Amino acid sequence: MTMEDIFCKIISSSIPADIVLQNADWIAINDIHPKAPVHVLIIPRRHLSSLADLDQQDPALATALLAAVGKVAKQKGIDQSGFRVIINQGEHGGQEVAHLHIHVLGGKSLGPKIVQE
Ligand code: 5GP
Repeated sequence: MTMEDIFCKIISSSIPADIVLQNADWIAINDIHPKAPVHVLIIPRRHLSSLADLDQQDPALATALLAAVGKVAKQKGIDQSGFRVIINQGEHGGQEVAHLHIHVLGGKSLGPKIVQE
């Protein structure tokens, strides 16, 4: 995957996105195909293909991304009702965009956590 994935283009403002919150480390946007009434993606500005790249060299970014979840939940008014946080990782995890991102889903009771096939 090249550095110019879709999220890099959003971060560089080459393509538009519906921004929920942002700071120097990350940007939070509404998912273009929401799977729940609230579906936000938290995306680090620094390109990381996956969670496996969020190594111990950058523990501050890991903390910042987790802290972003709470900020987004409050901003969207789901911090009390609850929400689900998902990171899809790699082929088996069903990751579609190879730029690390955290899904924050809420606004209704969500479905089964893991489906056994
Ligand atoms: P993944 O399957 O990689 O964990 O999730 C990728 C997510 O990115 C999907 O939920 C998809 O709807 C979302 N997405 C893909 N392209 C765009 C886009 O251009 N804009 C926004 N806002 N979301 C996108």
